[in-house]
Amino acid sequence: MKYLQWIHGEQVPSKEMFSVKNPANGEFVAEVASATETEVNRAVADAKQAYDDGRWSRLPLAERSLRLFRWADILEKHQSEIELTELQQTGKPLKLIRYSDFPFAIDNLRFYAAAARFLDGNAAAEYNGAHSSWLRREPLGVVAGIVPWNYPFMMAMWKVGPALAAGNTMVLKPATLTPLTALMLGRYAQEAGIPDGVLNVLAGPGRTVGESLVRHPDVQMISLTGDTATGRKIMAAGAPRVKRLHLELGGKAPFIVFNDADVAAAVEGAAVGSLVNTGQDCTAATRIYVERGTYAEFVERLQARFGQVRLGDPMDLHTDLGPLISLSQKDKVSHYVSDAVRQGATVFTAGSAVKDLPPGYYYQPTILTDIGQDWPVVQEEIFGPVVVILPFDNEAEAVFKGNDVEYGLASSVWTQDVAKALRMSAALRFGEVWINEHLPLTSEMPHGGVAQSGFGHDLSRYSLDEYTVVKHIMADTGLGTIKPWHFTVLGDVPQ
Ligand code: NAD
Repeated sequence: MKYLQWIHGEQVPSKEMFSVKNPANGEFVAEVASATETEVNRAVADAKQAYDDGRWSRLPLAERSLRLFRWADILEKHQSEIELTELQQTGKPLKLIRYSDFPFAIDNLRFYAAAARFLDGNAAAEYNGAHSSWLRREPLGVVAGIVPWNYPFMMAMWKVGPALAAGNTMVLKPATLTPLTALMLGRYAQEAGIPDGVLNVLAGPGRTVGESLVRHPDVQMISLTGDTATGRKIMAAGAPRVKRLHLELGGKAPFIVFNDADVAAAVEGAAVGSLVNTGQDCTAATRIYVERGTYAEFVERLQARFGQVRLGDPMDLHTDLGPLISLSQKDKVSHYVSDAVRQGATVFTAGSAVKDLPPGYYYQPTILTDIGQDWPVVQEEIFGPVVVILPFDNEAEAVFKGNDVEYGLASSVWTQDVAKALRMSAALRFGEVWINEHLPLTSEMPHGGVAQSGFGHDLSRYSLDEYTVVKHIMADTGLGTIKPWHFTVLGDVPQ
């Protein structure tokens, strides 16, 4: 199977090709055209033309909205083809794609299809008595959407939905490991009546294709979901042209359990919250802090729960955990664990389930205890099915340790004391705080980080706002040739 670039409604070949392999079994999935500078320039020029001539941005909003809705319907019609391709390129369990990633991505597109009709400037008045002011909410132009490998289809939709709903055009660049479902989007957009050039899709490495997009003078905004180190590089590369940025970066979510929590629910929440997508999730519950009175019981129960997790063939609907995305990701996770063990950590691996697995990049669910707050496994993003559990003695210590990382994306607190939950939700410095829950998101509510988790929001109307600019229009209401304020520049102060 061959996948080519998607530019101006056509499959475009390239001189260079690369392969995508299934991380669950190492089998070849597809050959993909890798963009070069030539295709980057062509895709951006085409998206700029599509923006400038207004074929999308000046469509009546009802029509823009309708075509986005139609696109969602067409994608839904092709769900089984898309979910199989997503499964083959990521190794994700089918049930995660079928019942979570895919429907949520489609819901997100429908949310923005509807929101396209609610683009508003919110003010119109004579603020200083002499001039009328109002606001126009306008698109930006060509936006580059750069997405990671952990939720390839869903992350692509999180970018494309608000960008297109706001009237921009987009050049989308998926991750090299997982470009296939993003490359499928173009032809279904075309079928839905989204004009050619409004969405172009290029595959290829971040350091070449990604950076060329970031540096391109005709790209007005870069919307990245990716690693914090990549966010830094994009900030630097975009600085000479003062590029508008939207950066959804890494995370290291604390999961804080008080003695008064429903322990059974917290254990279940920690297992689900940490093992989702084999732990390759920026909001995954990777740092578990348990109040000392409950600590021993919690560790024992979580070990038992991890022991029941079913690793296996992603196509099997009984499989809970698929492989990691690549050998290098598996090596990275193994190194974190072995370094922690060398430092003195106690390691628990839910072992027996892996024995008859195919030769994919599987990694057993792992729990580390007896560790220090400043260790790399506590401070850095591991991106694997590995959790650390640390005890704490009081609320102040829980807040301090929970906040004591460079990231600020997501967090959760588990307690039955309402006042304590509210205090904690205010004290935790994260873009998201769940109470007695971990993971769920909804299209209506924003998702985004603080600190080194980046800035900007995906989902909700806040994301739509970020793909627009607010323009202030001010009109004279008829004050004559020499206006009352002109003397402040030219002329004498009136007596
Ligand atoms: P990554 O940063 O390596 O790659 C993300 C994308 O950026 C890819 O398309 C890649 O090709 C591109 N890229 C890499 N270097 C680039 C450069 N110099 N210029 C332009 N583009 C470049 O991330 P990943 O490994 O694919 O994904 C995992 C990371 O994504 C984790 O850190 C995870 O926490 C983060 N993530 C964050 C969120 C969120 O909502 N905050 C969601 C999902 C994933």
